[in-house]
Amino acid sequence: MPHVITQACCGDASCVYACPVNCIHPTPDEPDFGIAEMLYIDPATCVDCGACVSACPVGAIVPGHRLGDSAARFADVNANHYPDSGLGDARFPVPTDWRLPLAPITKPRALTGAVPAELKVAIVGSGPSAMYAADQLLKYSQVRITMFERLPQPFGLARFGVAPDHLSTRSVSNLFDDIARHPNIEIRLNTEIGRDLTLDDLRRTHHAVLWAGGAPIDRPFEIPGARLPGVQSATSVVGWYNGHPDFADDAPNLATDQVVVIGNGNVALDVARIFTADPESLASTTIDRSALAALRSSDVREVIVVARRGPEHAAFTLPELIGLADGKARVWVDPAELDDVDSSGITDPTIAAKVELLREISQRLKPPGPFIRLSFGLTPVAVLGDDAATGVEFVKTGTDQRVTLNANLVLSAIGYRGRPIPGLPFDSEHGTVSHTEGRIVDDGEPIPGLYVTGWIKRGPSGFIGTNKTDSGETVAHLLADAQAGIFANRVAELT
Ligand code: NAP
Repeated sequence: MPHVITQACCGDASCVYACPVNCIHPTPDEPDFGIAEMLYIDPATCVDCGACVSACPVGAIVPGHRLGDSAARFADVNANHYPDSGLGDARFPVPTDWRLPLAPITKPRALTGAVPAELKVAIVGSGPSAMYAADQLLKYSQVRITMFERLPQPFGLARFGVAPDHLSTRSVSNLFDDIARHPNIEIRLNTEIGRDLTLDDLRRTHHAVLWAGGAPIDRPFEIPGARLPGVQSATSVVGWYNGHPDFADDAPNLATDQVVVIGNGNVALDVARIFTADPESLASTTIDRSALAALRSSDVREVIVVARRGPEHAAFTLPELIGLADGKARVWVDPAELDDVDSSGITDPTIAAKVELLREISQRLKPPGPFIRLSFGLTPVAVLGDDAATGVEFVKTGTDQRVTLNANLVLSAIGYRGRPIPGLPFDSEHGTVSHTEGRIVDDGEPIPGLYVTGWIKRGPSGFIGTNKTDSGETVAHLLADAQAGIFANRVAELT
C-alpha cells in the first residue's frame, strides 16, 4: 500500500530527494512548491520502499495501512493532488506539463577558485533557517561556522514556536541536534549581536555573515482598546506555554469563559487547540510546567477564532484543519457561516477541501466545551472595556452591521513582523532585510560578505522545512561569491 504524507509535513523536501521513483510533489523546482500547504505522494507510482520515511525529519510519512483514524483523510489528500492517476479527484485537473521528469538531486561539489582554506561564516540566529543553512554549508570541508544565539537554548521557533502537542514537528530538533554536532560548527549561546558583539565584530572576523534572526515581533494590532489589560498577542502565549524566557511574565488571563482570537492562521489554531485541550493530554509534553498548572485551573469554555474574510480565504492550512477535525480537538462552525460560500466557483483543490471539511464540521453537534469555534467575515473595530478587556466589537466585513463578542481575554494572531537591524538595509514595507536572492543589497548593489535567510529574508510565512530551500538559495550565492574570489581580499584581515 502506498505511503502517505500526513499533518506534520514540514515541506523541507528531504523525501523528494530520497524517493527513487519521483513520486513526491511538488518538488522544490516545480512552480507550485512555493504555495503548497504540504507535499503529496502519488499513490499510483509509489513503490512503497519507505526511503521517504527515513528521510523525513518530522515523522510525517506513514505506510497507508498504518494510518490511524485521525490521519485517514490524508490518503485522499495525497491522492487528490494526482487527479490524472485515476486515484485522485478528477474535479481538479491540474496541468502536468510543468512536472519535470525527475526530482533534482544537487550533489555537493568541492569548492574551487579563490576560496580561503578555511571559509569562516558567522550565522546569526539558530532557528530552522540558520540550521538548514549550516547543514548545507557544512557539506564543504573548508567551511567553519560560528553560530550566535541570544537565548540560552538553540533552534528558535523549532523549540519555542511549535505547539507542545505537535510532537512530530518538534522532532525536527533531532535533525538540528545532528547538525549542531558537526565538528566544524560552534554555537555560542547567550550571545546577542548588537548587545554582546556588533555586526562589525562579525564582519572583521568572518569572510561572510549570514543573518538568520527571524521576524521576532508581532504585526501591530492597532484598534481602540488594543492596549487594555487582557489583550495580548497569540505569539506571547505561544512563548509562554513553550517556556520562552522573554514571555515568562506573559501568562494570559484564563479566568474567562470565552476567549476571542483575532486572525485565523496556524498560530491562532495552535493557541486555540492548547487552550481547549485536556491539560492531562499535555502533561507528558514539553509544555512549560507553570503554563500547564494555569491550564489545569482555566475557566475557558470557548475559544472563538475570528477571521475578517470568508472561509475560502482562511489562513490556516488544510493539514492543520484536518488535525483539528479528526484529532482530539473539539471544533465547531455555525452552518450559517458557510451560507454565502459558493463552492462551485472554487477552482483551487486545497481551498475546496478546506471548505468541504468546514461544512462537515458545521454538521456536527456543537461540542459541550471547552471547544473552538471558527468564525468568519468579522472585522475587529474596537476592544471593549474600561479597565480591562470585556469583549470585542466587530463589523460584518463590507457592511455597517455591528457584532459584539464577550471575552476577558483577546489575542491578536495577525502574524509576525521583522524589525530593522542596525547596520543592515531594511525594506520597511515588507519588514525584511533588503536583498536579492539572499545577498544583502544597498540601493540594489550587493554588500560583499553579507547574506540573509529565513523569515527576515522572505517574510513570516511557510513551515519549518520551507527554510531548507530558502537557505539553499542564499547558501548557493554565498558559495558562488566565495568561488568568484569576493572574499579573497579579506583573508589577510581575518587571519
Ligand atoms: P498568518 O498565517 O499570516 O495569518 C494571519 C491572520 O491574521 C490572517 O487570518 C489574516 O487575515 C489576519 N490579519 C492580519 N492582519 C489583520 C488585521 N489587521 N485585523 C484582523 N485580522 C488580521 O500568520 P500566523 O498564524 O502568525 O502564521 C505565520 C506563519 O507560520 C504561517 O505561514 C503559518 O502557516 C506558519 N505556522 C505554521 C504552523 C504549523 O504548520 N502548524 C504553526 C504556526 C505557524 P487576512 O488573511 O484577511 O489578512
